[in-house]
Amino acid sequence: MTTTTRRTFRFVNWTLRPDQDDDAPPLMYGFRCLALTDDDTGCAAKSSLSKDPTEPQTWAFAHRREHPEHTSYAEVIERPWVMWREGST
Ligand SMILES: [Zn+2]
Repeated sequence: MTTTTRRTFRFVNWTLRPDQDDDAPPLMYGFRCLALTDDDTGCAAKSSLSKDPTEPQTWAFAHRREHPEHTSYAEVIERPWVMWREGST
């Protein structure tokens, strides 16, 4: 009738924070096209991610050359985060 509480997890706290360690993965930059096509769906074209923020901008210029009406873009930034487990002692 008495349920045993698994206390283990009660004292363990996970913390999530941006990973700024020396060996953290790099920030990665990309662009995606926000233009709507004729049937009102999104273009959804996107550049590959790059450590160099100017590379996806180059992609955007190339994409607009192929699709002259596609002039709205969003920058996508991938920032590494890391979780820490802190147990109470
Ligand atoms: Zn597009």
